[in-house]
Amino acid sequence: MRRRSFSKVKKRDRIRFGRIVTLITLMTLFVIGLLFIYAGLTDGINRYIAAAPLPAITESAQLSKMEVNSDIKEEPTRFQGQVRKVAYITFDDGPSDYTDSILDILREYDVKATFFMIGQHLNQHKDAVKRLVEEGSYPGLHSISHDYNTLYKSGSSKSFIEEFTKEQEMVKDIVGFTPMLIRAPYGSSPQIDEAFRGDIAAAGFKMWDWTIDSLDWNLPGQPNKVVEQVKSSLRWDKEVILLHEREQTVQALPRILDLLKEKGYQIEAYDPNGHFSANFGHDQRL
Ligand SMILES: [Zn+2]
Repeated sequence: MRRRSFSKVKKRDRIRFGRIVTLITLMTLFVIGLLFIYAGLTDGINRYIAAAPLPAITESAQLSKMEVNSDIKEEPTRFQGQVRKVAYITFDDGPSDYTDSILDILREYDVKATFFMIGQHLNQHKDAVKRLVEEGSYPGLHSISHDYNTLYKSGSSKSFIEEFTKEQEMVKDIVGFTPMLIRAPYGSSPQIDEAFRGDIAAAGFKMWDWTIDSLDWNLPGQPNKVVEQVKSSLRWDKEVILLHEREQTVQALPRILDLLKEKGYQIEAYDPNGHFSANFGHDQRL
């Protein structure tokens, strides 16, 4: 009986000892596990910090960054207690048979846009040009010929400045004031260098590229893709969106405007009194 009881106690002790060993082992493993997780996280964070500046920054991203900075300097970024987000929708290559349809949609949404028009299209669509200005949109310049070779091939700014100066007069004759904002056909990069930009500034012009390329011109019959392209590109509080006067763009426009409003953007036309620079060369002269 005693012996039995003794062996029972011993057995209980052994069980208790076994439990303590198991507990210590589990705790040790737990602590080691925690150390591993911590080390892993730290490594991950370090790698993240080291990697952050590395990804290639696209031109438009750089441009947008610069805009965000100039935004802070130039005007309050808060509107009614919230960060003010503004989208500038811009239509290139008009005026055209689509200008009136675009203006109808803009009127329906009570928003204004910026049109970069080609000089040699002006005469066929004078009424549309007058109308867009009457309805608060801005008549930007986009050269007379839109011809790459004529504008850029020599490397000199001479033909470029001549075309824009002449077009400026043509638009002034139609709308009654002198527009200063231009958009270089095919964008300012890479064909326009620093000296070229200096000449444009010296001629009194301002020049906008864009922060979002809708790729609309290349998506005939696919307005959904145009909307998707804009949607997936939205990232900054100030966006300049490149569109063209094309059928698919007219079809996509209501959804683009809905999207921008949904995302909290106010939609505005270029305002010469609130100019900010938006060119690929980050040139503050323009
Ligand atoms: Zn163009």
